[in-house]
Amino acid sequence: MYNLILFGPPGAGKGTQAIKIAQRYSWKHISTGDILRSEVSQGTALGLQVKAVMEGGHLVSDELLIEIINSVFLKNVDAAGFVFDGFPRTLNQAHELDKLLVSLNHSVNQVLSLEVDEGELVKRLLNRAQEQGRVDDTEEVIKNRLVQYHTHTKPLQQYYMDKGLYTEVYGVGGIDDIFESLCKAIKQ
Ligand code: AMP
Repeated sequence: MYNLILFGPPGAGKGTQAIKIAQRYSWKHISTGDILRSEVSQGTALGLQVKAVMEGGHLVSDELLIEIINSVFLKNVDAAGFVFDGFPRTLNQAHELDKLLVSLNHSVNQVLSLEVDEGELVKRLLNRAQEQGRVDDTEEVIKNRLVQYHTHTKPLQQYYMDKGLYTEVYGVGGIDDIFESLCKAIKQ
C-alpha cells in the first residue's frame, strides 16, 4: 500500500491534482475538506458541529479529524494506495496518522508539496469563491486560512523532511504540466 500525502497551502491545487493522481495510480483519494463539507451539507451532527469553524477558516479539532481518518482508512484497508489531500494539517494529526499506519504495518511513503506563491494563492482562492461559491473563500476568511496554514501546517514540512519523505513540486502553470511533474516525482 502506497501512502502519498499531497501537501501545500489552501489554493495550491491539491484537490485537482489528488483526483488525477488517484485515477492514474488507482489509489483512494481522501479529502478531509470534501468529507467535512459533505457532512455540513447533509446537516449531520458532525456537520453541525464543524460548520462555523469551517466557515471562519479555522481548523477543525484534531480529535474529529483523527476519527474521520481512522474510519475512512479502516473501510478501505484493501486499497492499493491513498492520496491524502488536506490531511494531516497539524503535527498532532501527522503523529496520529503515523500511529494508525504503523498499527497496520504501513507508513507514509512520500510527501509532495505544491509550491505556489502567496499572491497567486489569494488570486486563485478568490476565483474559486466566485466559481464554486465556497463560503470559506471570502477575502477575510482566506487570510485566516493562510494564517492557519503558516501557524499549524507549515511545520509539517520539517517533520517530513527529517524523515526523508519530502519533495517540492512547482505548482504554477497548466494543470496537466503540474500533474506530469508530480507523477515524475512519485517514487512508485
Ligand atoms: P480544504 O477543502 O482542505 O481546504 O478544507 C476546508 C476546511 O475544512 C478547512 O479550512 C478546515 O476548516 C477543515 N479541514 C479540512 N481538513 C482539515 C484538517 N486536516 N484539520 C483540520 N481542519 C480541516
